[in-house]
Amino acid sequence: MADESIARFETAGGARIYRLPLQVFPHMWGYAHLVIADGYVALIDVGSGQGESDAHLRDGLARVADEWGERVGWADLDRIVITHAHIDHHGGLNMVRGLSDAPIAVHELDRRVIVHHEERLALTRFRMGVFLRRAGVDEARRTKLLDMYGWSKNLFRSVEVQDVLRDDDLLDGRFRVIHVPGHCPGQVCLQIDDVLFTADHVLPEVAVFLSPESLTAATGVDHFLQSLRRVKGLAGVRLALGGHDRPVLDLGEAVAKIESIQAGRIARIYEACAEPRSLAELTAALYPAVGDYDELLALQKVGAYIEYLDQRGMLAIANLDEVAEDDLGVPRYHAA
Ligand SMILES: [Zn+2]
Ligand SMILES: [Zn+2]
Repeated sequence: MADESIARFETAGGARIYRLPLQVFPHMWGYAHLVIADGYVALIDVGSGQGESDAHLRDGLARVADEWGERVGWADLDRIVITHAHIDHHGGLNMVRGLSDAPIAVHELDRRVIVHHEERLALTRFRMGVFLRRAGVDEARRTKLLDMYGWSKNLFRSVEVQDVLRDDDLLDGRFRVIHVPGHCPGQVCLQIDDVLFTADHVLPEVAVFLSPESLTAATGVDHFLQSLRRVKGLAGVRLALGGHDRPVLDLGEAVAKIESIQAGRIARIYEACAEPRSLAELTAALYPAVGDYDELLALQKVGAYIEYLDQRGMLAIANLDEVAEDDLGVPRYHAA
């Protein structure tokens, strides 16, 4: 469980940062950040819009005004930035849009999830169905998992986005945008002075969720690893603040640790391919006894690493004849 108090940080250039804890899901906490400098106020991420998240966000703003004497009513916001279009970061937009007219910015690759939410879910559901079929998940189980996949459908109503972000933009003359695809296609980090908002790209203790890029372009293990190298090379970062998890004082060290965890996972999944197995069989072997939604996440996770190994020619398909004949066939991978 997260520390529920508001933390305050300051950049080398004197911008004040308030980290607002939000209970985004019953078992998950996350952070929105308020950044205040020379009368400019930006809100980075808005929580999930579920459960207590909206109330925590409203309380957070009120407490920054009351306890620190900052001018941060909803009418004072100049900017809302969404670091990536996952519901725990953008779901609160439905409430926030009713309270503030500040322009919303998100990376161009995540814009569609926010402005065409329903359409996006319908299309990814179809692709997920194909993915599960090729993973070797039987029909009854597939139906159940697909029903669950659409769980967020009714949790968010599409919202207009005013500005799209691209790599190396300088948003509002203040935030350097670093596009770091992998965890999400439009995942960005934002640098202001010597502080980097890493969102869900660099989390020191939490395993970042990855899914295969065959499901969603610009995700997957390869993009994630490349994006880790990208932030490792950033100059002048003294403090990194994530969308979850504790602050990072040594970004290079945190990234190196994540890289070594990823290398361990790649090796572990490669070892599990000693004998030919479908993705569903591999997932059952690697993550036994996970239920429902966890199973859906586990299949995507293992799928992401299998894709990575396969892209590098490290796997072969034992039943190539079957798979070559039918593109919905179930490949059985083994170490090449
Ligand atoms: Zn995320
Ligand atoms: Zn998150």
